[in-house]
Parts: sequence; C-alpha cells; structure tokens
Amino acid sequence: LSKIVRLNASKFNLTLSFFGLASLIGRLVGKVALITGGASGLGKATAHEFIQNGAQVIIADIDSELGPQVAQSLGPSAYFVPCDVADEAQVADAVDAVVTRHGKLDIMYNNAGVTGPVYPPSISDLDLDKFDEVMRINVRGVVAGIKHAARVMLPIASGSILCTSSISGIMAGLGPHPYTISKFAIPGLVKSAAAELCRHGVRINCISPAPIPTPMSVSQIAQFYPGLTREQVAGIINRLGELKGAHCEDADVAKAALYLASDEAKYVTGHNLVVDGGFTCFKNLSF
Ligand code: NAD
Repeated sequence: LSKIVRLNASKFNLTLSFFGLASLIGRLVGKVALITGGASGLGKATAHEFIQNGAQVIIADIDSELGPQVAQSLGPSAYFVPCDVADEAQVADAVDAVVTRHGKLDIMYNNAGVTGPVYPPSISDLDLDKFDEVMRINVRGVVAGIKHAARVMLPIASGSILCTSSISGIMAGLGPHPYTISKFAIPGLVKSAAAELCRHGVRINCISPAPIPTPMSVSQIAQFYPGLTREQVAGIINRLGELKGAHCEDADVAKAALYLASDEAKYVTGHNLVVDGGFTCFKNLSF
C-alpha cells in the first residue's frame, strides 16, 4: 500500500511540475518530512515553509514543552515526537515512528544544534568534556540522523537528507571553537555520505546560513553584552550579517531548504548551499 501511495504522490508531483502548477499548489505535496530542532528558530521556520508547500511535518526536538505547542500552532499537518539527537536510539525511534505511521520518510532535516559554552574563549583553556557535548549534538546527532534516514531511504532508492552547517563552518572566529569545529565537520560528512548515497537514489545536502537572531544565537551573543535587551542583541546579530541594509532571515534558510528538499533539486547532492548574502565572499574577521 505504501508503495502505491509513494508512486502516486511522485506521479502527482511530476504532473504538477509539468503544468507549472507546483509553485501554486505546493512543491512538497505528498512528502513526509522529519525536522530535528523543529521547535524553534530555523527548524520552526522551515517546518512552516514545508507545510505551506503541502508536506506532512514531524518536529523532533529535545524540548518536550515547546515542541508540542509549536506543532499545534502549525496546524494538522504537523506533530511532535520527542527526540534527543545525541542519543542514537531516540533518533532511530523517531524515524521508525514516522515510517510506521506514514509508510515512508521523504525528507530528513538534521537541523538541531547548540552553540556550547562561549567561555573560556581560548583553545588553550578548552574543556574537552564540554567540547564532547557539542560534538555529540552537532556532529554525532547529524551522523545518527543521516544513518537512520539512509536506513529507510536506501531500500526504496528515494529521499532527500538535509543538514544545517553555518558560515561558522566556512570561516573561523564567528563562534566558540567547539561550535566552529562542529560546523566545519558538516559539509565533510555530507560529501562523504553523498559519494555513497548518490549511487542509490538518495540525495544529501547542507545549508550554511549567516547569523540570524534565534534563541540560540541571541543567548550566545547576549553573553558578551550583559544588560542588553533581546531586541538590542538581535540588532547586533543582524548587523553582523548585514549587506546593503538587508540581513539574513529564517525564511531565507527555509526557502533554501525547500528547494533542496523538493524534486526540483533532483540532480543536486553533496552540495553546501551558503545563505549569507555574500558574507563569506568579502568579510575578513579580525579580533
Ligand atoms: P534554536 O535554538 O532556535 O533552535 C534549535 C533547536 O534545536 C531548539 O528547538 C532546541 O530545543 C533543539 N535542540 C537542541 N539540542 C537538541 C538535541 N540534543 N536534540 C534535539 N533537539 C535539540 O537555534 P537555531 O538558530 O534555529 O539553530 C538551528 C540550527 O541552525 C543549528 O544547527 C545552528 O547551529 C544552525 N545555525 C544557526 C544560525 C543562527 O545564527 N541562528 C546560523 C547558522 C547556523
């Protein structure tokens, strides 16, 4: 039955693209997407974008209070599953729960991430236990997401896996050492996985956004500016990524994710889509 549903959904998408109607009706009609870290920030914005485009979205997040509220606010096309990405068994369970309920997983977005401690700033004082904590979520959590998505996508030779890196994965000095190191790892593991998965009909790409005010970035930058309001800190983050008066917004990342997740990107894999308005082309950070 799930095979028939899958075939019909992809025929429906092809028909829509043929008549140029996909952008009117939705570019992810019939798709099932699991988004880690979907309860906040970029994950939440992407969940909204995917739903607007016809997808069924499952928000997998460690925040069991916020997650269900956000899923409910997104309407009947979203629901929440609790998941700590640092725990492989929980990632496997989340993927299996989706496949049991929907018969498939079309899109896996490994987006959950943390900044980790910003102090002490020097690598000479790095606390390696804290370093491990960041790596467990930002790298191991992504590897677990790729592994278990691939486990269910490979047998049907179909699927799109996305991961969130950062411009901190392109240039150093924007975030603390563990965060920077973890984000540099993502394009590498995406390439490594793509080299295998491309031969089996499964795509994998990552997105590297510029700074955007979200709970994560605001709490990170606020540590350097005690006493400032959330809005003032958000202003600092926006100025950091500003280009010609514009700055990166969560919707910019959501649109990039929409493209990579959709069948429009059917020949795109192993790619790092940088969403930074040119930031990494010309900015030269010096502290
Ligand atoms: P956010 O804090 O708004 O959202 C992160 C979400 O991940 C939260 O809902 C949180 O509960 C969840 N999460 C944290 N640890 C988890 C775990 N162990 N298991 C499952 N869920 C967990 O932050 P955001 O800015 O939206 O960050 C999303 C991704 O974007 C991260 O990977 C981050 O590194 C990346 N990113 C953010 C920015 C930025 O400026 N905001 C820029 C580039 C990249």
